[in-house]
Amino acid sequence: MSDRLPGFSTLAVHAGAQPDPTTGARATPIYQTTSFVFNDADHAASLFGLQAFGNIYTRIGNPTNAVLEERVAALEGGTAALAVASGHAAQVVVLQQLLQPGDEFIAARKLYGGSINQFTHAFKSFGWNVVWADPDDIASFERAVTPRTKAIFIESIANPAGSITDIEAISTVARKAGVPLIVDNTLASPYLIRPIDHGADIVVHSLTKFLGGHGNSLGGIIVDAGTFDWSTGGKYPMLSEPRPEYHGIRLQETFGNFAFAIACRVLGLRDLGPALSPFNAFMILTGIETLPLRMQKHCDNAKAVAEFLAGHPAVASVSYAGLPSDKYNQLARKYAPKGAGAVFTFSLKGGYDAGVSLVSKLQLFSHLANVGDTRSLVIHPASTTHSQLDDAAKIKSGAGPDVVRLSVGIEDKEDLIADLEQALAG
Ligand SMILES: *Cc1c(COP(=O)(O)O)cnc(C)c1O
Repeated sequence: MSDRLPGFSTLAVHAGAQPDPTTGARATPIYQTTSFVFNDADHAASLFGLQAFGNIYTRIGNPTNAVLEERVAALEGGTAALAVASGHAAQVVVLQQLLQPGDEFIAARKLYGGSINQFTHAFKSFGWNVVWADPDDIASFERAVTPRTKAIFIESIANPAGSITDIEAISTVARKAGVPLIVDNTLASPYLIRPIDHGADIVVHSLTKFLGGHGNSLGGIIVDAGTFDWSTGGKYPMLSEPRPEYHGIRLQETFGNFAFAIACRVLGLRDLGPALSPFNAFMILTGIETLPLRMQKHCDNAKAVAEFLAGHPAVASVSYAGLPSDKYNQLARKYAPKGAGAVFTFSLKGGYDAGVSLVSKLQLFSHLANVGDTRSLVIHPASTTHSQLDDAAKIKSGAGPDVVRLSVGIEDKEDLIADLEQALAG
């Protein structure tokens, strides 16, 4: 055996997996079972008391899901991970470990539309208060910090315009405030950006998008960087205080640098219940095997499409961080040198009506509310994903009335450009 550390593409295929010990199956089997037989009463008791690792019930853990967890933790450079039913479930489970009713978290204003909704409305009913900050103005994060702040939440490549966030600058603010930085890395995937290398403490994903990559399975994941000290000042009692449901153990003391992932599993997933189906874990694992190949093609196609649009007379502007003229190009060169992702926006001189018309004329691009599929996708955010926001908030979040969002797929770029050309011609 060589002592070389495996590279990213090798990890994407192999991390966490080995031939099935009972059958020799080389692909990871789908362990489609709700529950697992205990060796004896002592074994059962030690599993329930968190004194031993093992399988109990698929709501808490499953061997197919465990391979997915180990693989994504390896790709992101974290200590451990927890797979859940969707990206939104990952966000709920993470914040439930960090916030008590009445607490606050700071979130970048440029976010996936569903996250803006979840933070504004659903989380309010839990007593968790979101305070918005502007990812282009680092001082706005500093100003938003109060004694009740428990976390900062940003996207690495931000929806909908594909802008690049200065993760290191915001991680400095988080460190000073003594709170963890949570990075939603969905649009970048670890192939383009590894937020933990830039100071993130927790990474979340919608696996539904580029990691699964084929538009066929929902999933979410939480990666623990193992970097945060949860014991300071009694700020994070879920991690630092004795847990009555587990004979008074303290999670940080017992599990050290993967205590957060354990808390998400044994307090979050166990009690809230958004378990990932092992079938979806299998689909997503299969997708991850080709992540490096797909992601590079997504980025190369997106750049070609962005360049075509930037030169088209019907187009007013293109927001793609991979274009040298883009205001995020410097940050893209620093954080995402292999490519600036495949989700971006452009605006049409004809405004709202032109946006609606373009979406209806495109044939190869599917009009739907998703990103990160092999297929190219298009949406007009102002009339769909961001329609609940008022006009000022739409513009602030990058979803003004004239804006169209693309998620560029892995087809032949010439075909994608031809489709846009016919739809723009009118
Ligand atoms: C889709 C998405 C989510 C939500 O994920 P689901 O799997 O749909 O619940 C969160 N963040 C980003 C950036 C997304 O694109």
